[in-house]
Amino acid sequence: MEVTHIEHIGIAVKNLEEGIRFYEQVLGLKCYAIEEVKDQKVKTAFFKVGQTKIELLESTEAEGPIGKFIEKKGEGIHHLAFAVKDIDGSLKIAEEKGIQLIDKTSRKGAEGLDIGFLHPKFTMGVLTELCEDKKNTK
Ligand code: ZN
Repeated sequence: MEVTHIEHIGIAVKNLEEGIRFYEQVLGLKCYAIEEVKDQKVKTAFFKVGQTKIELLESTEAEGPIGKFIEKKGEGIHHLAFAVKDIDGSLKIAEEKGIQLIDKTSRKGAEGLDIGFLHPKFTMGVLTELCEDKKNTK
């Protein structure tokens, strides 16, 4: 597969407002988008750091994936997302190389990206997301 850069780092937070305050007032970044992703039961806030983004994730339901993550591990880095050239081809390559997929085929994530997750058991504990921005690639 062809990875071009780290697209974003996903950080689980209990309170989005508090998270935004830190990134804006201490680090001086600007939150440029807040978006709810209903099927993931999260509200997200985005910041740009060069080509890479920080994605803060607040659970909208205790039973959602972020709610469960925080309950088990507390707040912190939740996943690492790599930008790839061909999302479905890349998921297939990962599977062929013996990596268990959470998403067999890509689905729509925040910001209209096509995304797919690899199982952290197969990636040294780091929940790994692959994503493709089909709007900005030829
Ligand atoms: Zn993500």
